[in-house]
Amino acid sequence: MQSDSKKYDVIILGAGASGLLCAMTAAQRGRRVLVIEKANKVGKKILMSGGGKCNFTNHNVEADNFISNNSHFCKAALKRYSQWDFIAMVARHGIEIEERKHSQQFCKNSAKEILTMLLDECQQAGVEIRTDCEFMSVKYDSGYHLKIKQNTKKETLNSQSFVVATGALSIPSLGGSGIAYEIAQQFGLALTKRRAGLVPFMFSDAMKGICERLSGLALEVNLSCNGQTFTENLLFTHRGISGPSVLQVSNYWSPGDEVSINLMPYIEAEDWLIEAKTKQGKQLLKTLLSKKLAKALVSELQTLWWSKSAASPLAEFSDKQLRAIGEQINNWQLKPSATEGYRTAEVTLGGVDTDGISSKTMEAKQQAGLYFIGEALDVTGHLGGYNFQWAWSSGYSAGLFV
Ligand SMILES: Cc1cc2nc3c(=O)[nH]c(=O)nc-3n(C[C@H](O)[C@H](O)[C@H](O)COP(=O)(O)OP(=O)(O)OC[C@H]3O[C@@H](n4cnc5c(N)ncnc54)[C@H](O)[C@@H]3O)c2cc1C
Repeated sequence: MQSDSKKYDVIILGAGASGLLCAMTAAQRGRRVLVIEKANKVGKKILMSGGGKCNFTNHNVEADNFISNNSHFCKAALKRYSQWDFIAMVARHGIEIEERKHSQQFCKNSAKEILTMLLDECQQAGVEIRTDCEFMSVKYDSGYHLKIKQNTKKETLNSQSFVVATGALSIPSLGGSGIAYEIAQQFGLALTKRRAGLVPFMFSDAMKGICERLSGLALEVNLSCNGQTFTENLLFTHRGISGPSVLQVSNYWSPGDEVSINLMPYIEAEDWLIEAKTKQGKQLLKTLLSKKLAKALVSELQTLWWSKSAASPLAEFSDKQLRAIGEQINNWQLKPSATEGYRTAEVTLGGVDTDGISSKTMEAKQQAGLYFIGEALDVTGHLGGYNFQWAWSSGYSAGLFV
């Protein structure tokens, strides 16, 4: 085994979204930058994101799109490097953009183009990137001294600045790791509680069977939890419920909480049912509802809510009974047993407590030269390109100061 020692201005741990943006920014300032990546490839989450098309930002980016113990923390970085800055770089590289609903910006062709763009920028600026590189330890002694292992070779690397860009716990097979929290704790930084976010729900009660039977069915709903409502698709899966509305609401859900599904977001179901009773009293309720909802879903609802009156025409339902069913349609309360957890979660809520970090530079307030960027921090975006925008904005901010 050999050992030697190398000196850089900046060492960045993690070659994901935030690390690569930070690296190119710092190198463009003339800093000597090394990025260390444990995986065999860089930017795995970028490649997998947005169904392979990478939802890289959103036209409407506000602090309200982010969740953090300190709701103001993200503002300075988002202003310093906005969605328009990233879109301008994408345009400079000739990448075609597809705008989808809610102003989400995707690649028209492939997420690979975003990664290629970042790597081209890094290469032009002279960034060194090492993959398959195991981080072993870091020490501070008027500079940072990292022990790493690549293949079987151990090395000590030295730098003035050390940037932790290792992301968070979600999807270990795509690089998810908790190393940022360990480094934060080593240097006395506090952590906020972490949990899986943008993640499907599971059920252990009767809903489990319903979801299995309806697996593959999607419909637009209003989904609410703890005062937050999202109007988006809901997808039944063989494990529970997923789809954009569910992922969004999962960021606001804690174990034991109920979620409320409005199956007809644009209709007052009580009034509609009472009116239908007067005008089309001979119909079965199932037939009426099947005009607005999938038959398979209506059959499940019938078993749950009016199985004893299944064969009765609408006219034989009391107004009270129809109002109760209407109320259920607009406010179906369900109690998920759990989320699918970090195995499938797109993000991790919580992380390095932003109280200990400068919102201008991403540097630790009590530890000169140590920076945290991206998802490792306690800043989590809604679904819609916000998590990448946070990675770009925080990476750029640090890149200017490292
Ligand atoms: C399936 C999926 C789809 C997504 N789609 C979108 C989307 O379309 N739009 C959006 O805005 N967000 C999306 N996200 C979220 C987004 O990918 C992340 O928020 C973002 O990548 C975070 O950037 P980051 O730089 O903090 O971390 P990452 O991009 O995760 O990068 C961290 C890097 O650090 C490396 N690393 C970890 N530990 C070590 C270590 N010990 N030593 C060295 N390297 C290490 C990892 O291998 C990884 O390369 C998606 C997430 C997932 C999982």
